[in-house]
Amino acid sequence: MPSPAPTVLWFRRDLRLADNPALGEAVGEARAEGSDVVGLYVLDPALWATAGPVRQAYLARSLRALHASTGGRVVVRHGDPRAVVPAVCAEVGARSVHVAASYEPYGRRRDDAVEEALATAGVRLRRTGSPYAVAPGRVRTRGGTPFQVFTPFRTAWLEHGWRAPAPLPDDVAWAALASDGLPDAPEPGARLPEAGEAAALARWRAFLADGLADYPTDRDRPDLVGTSYLSPALKWGEIHPRTLLADLASAVRSGAVPEEAAATYRSELAWREFHADVLFHHPGAARRSLRTVVPEDAWATGAAEDAMLAAWREGRTGYPVVDAGMRQLLGTGWMHNRVRMIVASFLVKDLHVRWQRGAEHFMAHLVDGDVSQNQLNWQWVAGTGRDAAPYFRIFNPVTQGQKFDPDGAYVREWVPELRGIAGKAVHEPWKLAGAAPGYPERVVDHALERKVSLEDFERGRGR
Ligand code: FAD
Repeated sequence: MPSPAPTVLWFRRDLRLADNPALGEAVGEARAEGSDVVGLYVLDPALWATAGPVRQAYLARSLRALHASTGGRVVVRHGDPRAVVPAVCAEVGARSVHVAASYEPYGRRRDDAVEEALATAGVRLRRTGSPYAVAPGRVRTRGGTPFQVFTPFRTAWLEHGWRAPAPLPDDVAWAALASDGLPDAPEPGARLPEAGEAAALARWRAFLADGLADYPTDRDRPDLVGTSYLSPALKWGEIHPRTLLADLASAVRSGAVPEEAAATYRSELAWREFHADVLFHHPGAARRSLRTVVPEDAWATGAAEDAMLAAWREGRTGYPVVDAGMRQLLGTGWMHNRVRMIVASFLVKDLHVRWQRGAEHFMAHLVDGDVSQNQLNWQWVAGTGRDAAPYFRIFNPVTQGQKFDPDGAYVREWVPELRGIAGKAVHEPWKLAGAAPGYPERVVDHALERKVSLEDFERGRGR
């Protein structure tokens, strides 16, 4: 009789044990075989190199937490998954590899190649679940076509519904196998949130109890702690959106939170699913605009582009809320959503730099940097995406600051040169001569650049 074959659970961006349907499948199969589960993480040099120091550090910590929760049994192997995964299967005699399906362009290509390599050895790649409540590509119009617009997508997504969270299997028999060891990442210099499944769940529970009721009003305020700060955990799959959606439903049922607050939060999760759906149907959207809105010659080039980009990246544009956001990004690997929109609009419509350059900087520094969410949100702001903000809607960095950071506390936290200015006057330091020593002059005049952008847009329409 052949010895029982272990199954392999290949962790990728699902670094948790709770509500992990692929884990459930792997455990079920291993038990039926009288065998155990190899918990594999492949450190793919291609992905590691593009993660940047902030996501590398966060991933290293998240893997450490996962390793601890499996009793030290996560097997880390370094190398190209196309070679490593078949090699591990051959080593242990596994006949199946379980994963949560990937939907972004690189992950799809990788998984197809791994599946093919495994098949030649008679091993199956079994995909169960995904990082989304509803797998990208599944929510369609009645005509079977992808949705172009968010609101009807959300309606159909809500109607489609999702599974209940998967139960946590008890007593998983993890296989012991030689490991290349957990990755080490240099300290990134940014203050990152605590990584790992337990920290994600604790953050979510605290937000449900104390933050969600005020979410509809506070979520746009970068000076308050008004959002859940779960994007890094969702990016790495330390918590699944299905868990969040189930908890929202029960919190509403029990009367703990008002439906309006739950609906607002659900809607933000729906944006996440919409962007993943758009990228699934248009993998090229990771690099190219889905539509052209201004003529090619509208964009800054050469030294002018480099200078504008440098001022923006370093938070020295002379526009306080923009600079605060850019410095928050460098300081924490995260930026408030409202401020992400303001700084993105400023780069594209005030500095006339292509969205791709900004998206690249975000991906280099965001702890939650995620190709579908980042690229499609950039396209939304730049007016080039599906259901994007129209190009002619140009954020005014002063009035946005005054409205969403009404006392200027956010700006003063991130821009020390402006700490001497009290209240909302901090959003217009140029009106107070000598009040902001060391703070840069404005690199452009917003009113003027706004006109240029509107003219560019008209020229683009006229063609
Ligand atoms: P909450 O307000 O608590 O929202 C809960 C969850 O809903 C978030 O964690 C997120 O998963 C989802 N969500 C909220 N807003 C959005 C949105 N606009 N689009 C999609 N999902 C949303 N988010 C990323 O996860 N990764 C990125 O790389 C990323 N890049 C962005 C780039 C730009 C230019 C912009 C404008 C937005 C980007 N976002 C990105 C979306 C959003 O800013 C973050 O998800 C949000 O700030 C995370 O904070 P939170 O978890 O406290 O959000």
